[in-house]
Amino acid sequence: MKRQSSSDFTEQVVNAIASVVGSGPASLHAPSFTGNELRYLEECIESTYVSSVGNFVEKFERNLAEYTGADYAICVVNGTSALHLALILAGVEPHDEVLIPTLTFVATANAVRYCNATPHFVDSSDIDLGIDVEKLRDYLKKNTQQINGNCVNLTSERIIRGIVPMHTFGHASDLHGLAKLCLEFNLVMVEDAAESIGTLYRGKHTGLFGKMGILSFNGNKTITTGGGGAILTNDSRIAERAKHLSSTAKLSHAWEYVHDQVGYNYRMPNLNAALGCAQLEELPEKLLKKRELFKKYSVSFENLHGIRMYEEPPHSTSNYWLQAAILEPSHVDFQHEILLRSNQMNIGTRPPWKLIHTLKPYEDCPRMDLTKAKELQARIINIPSSPDLVGLS
Ligand SMILES: *Cc1c(COP(=O)(O)O)cnc(C)c1O
Repeated sequence: MKRQSSSDFTEQVVNAIASVVGSGPASLHAPSFTGNELRYLEECIESTYVSSVGNFVEKFERNLAEYTGADYAICVVNGTSALHLALILAGVEPHDEVLIPTLTFVATANAVRYCNATPHFVDSSDIDLGIDVEKLRDYLKKNTQQINGNCVNLTSERIIRGIVPMHTFGHASDLHGLAKLCLEFNLVMVEDAAESIGTLYRGKHTGLFGKMGILSFNGNKTITTGGGGAILTNDSRIAERAKHLSSTAKLSHAWEYVHDQVGYNYRMPNLNAALGCAQLEELPEKLLKKRELFKKYSVSFENLHGIRMYEEPPHSTSNYWLQAAILEPSHVDFQHEILLRSNQMNIGTRPPWKLIHTLKPYEDCPRMDLTKAKELQARIINIPSSPDLVGLS
């Protein structure tokens, strides 16, 4: 058998991507505005309510709650601030530890740090790219003890307050497994569902399995408000407090400025919410297109050995936010060359984020064995994922 040379395989992979995205430049993910965006923005500007007051914020919050099935949605300036507020409201205190995957975007860790708490890094599963629940259970059994109803890290003697699973590239984590783990170890769960609007786990929208979930509407996400985020919750008290804390903790009064605690200026401007209202109307179509794009890539990759398209995990319906090709362990050495060659051709491919525990601000944080996350980081290549790369027949 002829030995496959490195460039052969790289060429085949890049050609397989190119055959789907066509000959022009293709970015990793571009927003698209195909509905009522201009109309609502114009309406918003004509009303002069472009800032922290206005009907679009309330409308967007109502529509988000309805779409996801959450009792409440509270809109804020970005996903990171949503995560920050959610962790405060989950009761994360200075000196606590919070379990987060090391395979995530840096915002997950930053939000923990904003609470003066410490991220505690956990490994990922190659089944769903989320937290490996069984491995984490074994680790917690060996390394923690329940003291006064708290999960205490026996090494650092700090309380592990909670866990923030993240739905990687829009694929749902093992949410039932995670919910069970939280009960066993007294952990509060906040879902980082920044990437997973439209993703269902056993028929229920991601972000609704813990005390709170957060969404992001950054420009590269499935729908965008320019910048924006939301907290989802079924707890009316938390919803009220989120609204209060995000609007400088100002008490409602016709003219007086009374603030009853140190609040944040995190409320989403009406202008952004207007964009969000239009984008949410387009979400079902974007999801269909993303699924179609996945199918096209799958067909195109069918005859390649050493790489395959990452398919949604069992019991879930993914939004396929970022399409991911995954190299067989025997082919990891090709990751760099494929990234290089495709980007030279203006095909926007990316490796996953650098694992957070390797970043300077987080080098010294506690962690479990992270073998699987390291493997996944080396094996995955994200490829162009804009919904408008396909038409709908
Ligand atoms: C996008 C994203 C966020 C939030 O990002 P913002 O830019 O602040 O909206 C948080 N976590 C993950 C995993 C993300 O991908």
